[in-house]
Amino acid sequence: LAGLPGTSLHKLQIIQNSAARVLSRTRKYSTEYREITRLYSVGKSVEKRELYVMEISDKPGIHELGEPEFKYIGNMHGNEVLGRELLLNLIEYLCKNYGTDLEATTLVNNTRIHIMPSMNPDGYEISTEGDKSSVIGRNNSNNFDLNRNFPDQFVNITDPRQPETIAVMNWMNENPFVLSANLHGGSLVVNYPYDDAEGITLYSKCPDDAIFRQLAISFSKENKQMYGGHPCTDMYPNEYFSQGITNGAQWYTVPGGMQDWSYLHTNCFEVTIELGCFKFPLAEDLPKYWKQNKRSLLQFMKQVHKGVKGFVLDGSNRKGIFNATITVADVNHPIKSAKDGDYWRLLVPGVYKITASARGYLPMTKNVTVKDRQAVEVNFTLSRVTDYKINSHVEVSINSSAGSEEEFNKLVKNLSSKEGLNNLILSSPINLNLYRYHDYKDLSEVLRGLHNNYPGITKLRR
Ligand SMILES: [Zn+2]
Repeated sequence: LAGLPGTSLHKLQIIQNSAARVLSRTRKYSTEYREITRLYSVGKSVEKRELYVMEISDKPGIHELGEPEFKYIGNMHGNEVLGRELLLNLIEYLCKNYGTDLEATTLVNNTRIHIMPSMNPDGYEISTEGDKSSVIGRNNSNNFDLNRNFPDQFVNITDPRQPETIAVMNWMNENPFVLSANLHGGSLVVNYPYDDAEGITLYSKCPDDAIFRQLAISFSKENKQMYGGHPCTDMYPNEYFSQGITNGAQWYTVPGGMQDWSYLHTNCFEVTIELGCFKFPLAEDLPKYWKQNKRSLLQFMKQVHKGVKGFVLDGSNRKGIFNATITVADVNHPIKSAKDGDYWRLLVPGVYKITASARGYLPMTKNVTVKDRQAVEVNFTLSRVTDYKINSHVEVSINSSAGSEEEFNKLVKNLSSKEGLNNLILSSPINLNLYRYHDYKDLSEVLRGLHNNYPGITKLRR
């Protein structure tokens, strides 16, 4: 029923939500729709308001193997309120239509959805309805702009990292998010990485420019006014965004923004969406905004199912390999497999060479054709380096279960022979310089590789 004018639901929607109402509404849904929702908090704002997230899934609280995770974040700027309100509409829409509407049901069954209506609840408290373009309430309670508060690839961000920023960074590090949008207001356009270009306003292309453009258009083309490209003619008469999308830095540079950090430091592809020219529109206009953006919000979520997905498995025990690297030839942006070896790689249609590699395993490359439909499933079963013949003369098997003294001596002898150790090193998929320091990533991979080779006498805890 949501979205149809004149229903009682609509009367509910036009009540502007105070912070308390956001909470009571999200709580209400998590009680009424217990089977498909879970309400949790990722931390607290400066003024100790919870940063609530509603999870919507057919198995809330659980990462289902192979199922991608999606998130929306709203109200990062406290006085840009449309995201906050529309996300409440979206939660309600998914809950009410689950089990009856095919699209909503399929989304909830096949996606783990996380929705944070407000990342800056404190800023919202001092904002005012009817505020078209001010900055009152934009920042958090310590007066820092949260979308300038993330580590940046070009600029050293010296402002102290804020509790809201830290909470969201931790959340993003702890969950295998694949796709995300950060909802703002004050214009009408989808903005994609990079947002920064060493402080210069110019198109700052990231390696995944093609898929980011496709993701951005999936949202903009469902919103007629946005797609038209002339968003806020009374405020900015000359502004034009072809197809309602823009590269972030081409519009203006944002050092310390969330979307670039997400792309560069997690597996999650994120865009920033300006939902309307008015930052804090009158409550009576909210139904209009929901109507304008509802299809966009749903279409964008579906994009999490594009590209390639699958598992990276250990050939000896069929277990998933955590933190394996998935590389796409000619796209310089590797992603990592999640805890159970599952991975998701968003890509536009095309033919790709995709390689899975992990420390201690032989890498594997596959040719993959991506079409403009559901993600193609590609699994990689990797062999341990040490399960292989090192060369035709020296056969080495480091396997703790076959650990008789005779075999051990043979192994040591083989490794010590003329080419034994060299061959072992050469057959390793990753550059194994013998003398070097190990950064954190390296350290993790070395420990994991050692554990895989010596499972009988080591245990790796995390
Ligand atoms: Zn904003």
